[in-house]
Amino acid sequence: MGDTQRMSDFDVIVIGAGPGGYVAAIRCAQLGLKTACVDRWIGEDGEPSPGGTCLNVGCIPSKALLDSSERYEEISTHAVDHGISAGPISIDVAKMQARKDKLVSDLTSGISALFKSNQIAFISGHGCLVEPGSVRVSSDHQPEQFLRAKHVILASGSQPVQLPGMSVDETTIFDSSGALAFSTVPTRLGIIGAGVIGLELGSVWRRLGAEVIILEAMDSLLGNADRMIAREAKKQFSRQGLDILLGCQVTEVTSTKDGCTIHYRTGEQDESIDVERLIVAVGRLPCTEGLFEPGCGIELNARGAVSVDAHCATAVPGVWAIGDLVDGPMLAHKASEEGVAVAERIASGVGHVDYSIVPWVIYTHPEIAWVGATEEELKSQGVQYKVGLFPFAASGRAKAAGATEGFAKIIACHETDRILGAHMIGPQVSELINEAVLAMSMEASAEDLARTVHAHPTLAEVVHEAALASHGRAIHKVNR
Ligand code: FAD
Ligand code: NAD
Repeated sequence: MGDTQRMSDFDVIVIGAGPGGYVAAIRCAQLGLKTACVDRWIGEDGEPSPGGTCLNVGCIPSKALLDSSERYEEISTHAVDHGISAGPISIDVAKMQARKDKLVSDLTSGISALFKSNQIAFISGHGCLVEPGSVRVSSDHQPEQFLRAKHVILASGSQPVQLPGMSVDETTIFDSSGALAFSTVPTRLGIIGAGVIGLELGSVWRRLGAEVIILEAMDSLLGNADRMIAREAKKQFSRQGLDILLGCQVTEVTSTKDGCTIHYRTGEQDESIDVERLIVAVGRLPCTEGLFEPGCGIELNARGAVSVDAHCATAVPGVWAIGDLVDGPMLAHKASEEGVAVAERIASGVGHVDYSIVPWVIYTHPEIAWVGATEEELKSQGVQYKVGLFPFAASGRAKAAGATEGFAKIIACHETDRILGAHMIGPQVSELINEAVLAMSMEASAEDLARTVHAHPTLAEVVHEAALASHGRAIHKVNR
């Protein structure tokens, strides 16, 4: 070993400080394990920036811009309904972005503070599993070092899928990170992919004045959502002016003086549109480049994800993998729960994630959220079920807020009444879904939810009424 290298011993080394890795590291430390966390992310200020995709270019900055743009739209178009005249309003994009950047840096320095208070050694640099129990850390600003530990948790996350011939140039073609950092509102914005990112970022820039056209390969929106929710979402987004073109095969993108031309095929037709900027948002792939030495025993599956068993253990004893790096929904809370479970397995041999009740939320307006089975899944499994539906338009609180789009849907087992799924589109369903998750985690029946006293007037009464509706006894439903 050269003189620039040194050895350190830990119980656990975590590679990656996203919501999977940093949460795993904190839980390991809480359980008395001597823990190090290695992360290579460097912020705009040139300093290490733990927090991963979620804090730096994902969940948090996207929600900051969604919130700013929603306020803008609220004031410019809806305030008048409340008798408020705001006069001509304008958006200072630089200030909006500065607010987002400050939020990100506050939260990433919060992770550094959490590492310190839990006595976790944070090491900035690229981590590579050399062999079981041995990690090499390299960076531009420090000599290479070798760390040893009984356990290594791989939590290197994911990166955007790139389409051939459409490489990100940060001038005309952007991925989600670039689209979160626009310094001006594009006049005409094209987005390839009507998934979660396409819909959230499309909403941000539409609200601020861009004409947004989203090209989606599939014939329907939000493939893994309940169909009733997906249809309502398409209706609401189209009404708002998001132009979503389904069944489009993008064939080529060519440069123009003012942006680019997207060439695509729908059915037998060849079409094209000109846009000023293009966001490519067609999914994300696990980030495994340079993460482990070939031959150290880690296996990748056909998707390029690290292969793990049901407990996040890789084929190599003492090496675990969690979050976007492994199969399952690419969601921050799923990554964190796996991080906690692996830490607990390392410390005590027992840890658990209930994958059947991981909620999904899409932070558009109206918001979309779901947990558990869709009607389509239950039909295909031959499960007998009943459905309770209740519209936000019949909620006093939703009416008072002027946010009456959408509905809540509770699906319960026909025989046992156990709640099998909850699907919602409407105001603040990102919060309301957690009631259904809790109910399902306690294996509650629709009747349990129906018999639970809900405060009035609240949006949660819509979930309550949906549970009542599954028993045919919603109170505020007009029978037709
Ligand atoms: P990551 O957060 O990707 O973190 C991995 C970390 O490992 C990164 O810091 C990376 O730099 C580092 N790393 C990689 N390789 C190495 C290496 N070899 N050595 C050292 N460090 C390394 N999810 C939600 O649940 N809710 C949302 O609202 C949401 N919004 C999103 C919005 C956008 C625009 C995007 C892109 C994603 C969003 N997601 C959201 C998804 C969410 O960000 C991810 O599911 C989550 O961050 C995954 O966590 P992770 O810890 O597995 O990986
Ligand atoms: P996605 O998988 O949600 O959507 C990608 C969309 O692109 C799909 O509808 C797919 O059919 C379409 N597509 C793929 N190839 C295409 C092509 N060549 N032409 C046209 N359309 C094409 O992926 P995403 O929107 O990039 O987001 C990545 C992941 O990040 C999400 O799956 C999610 O796990 C996570 N995320 C979560 C949130 C949230 O929880 N609110 C927000 C943003 C991102």
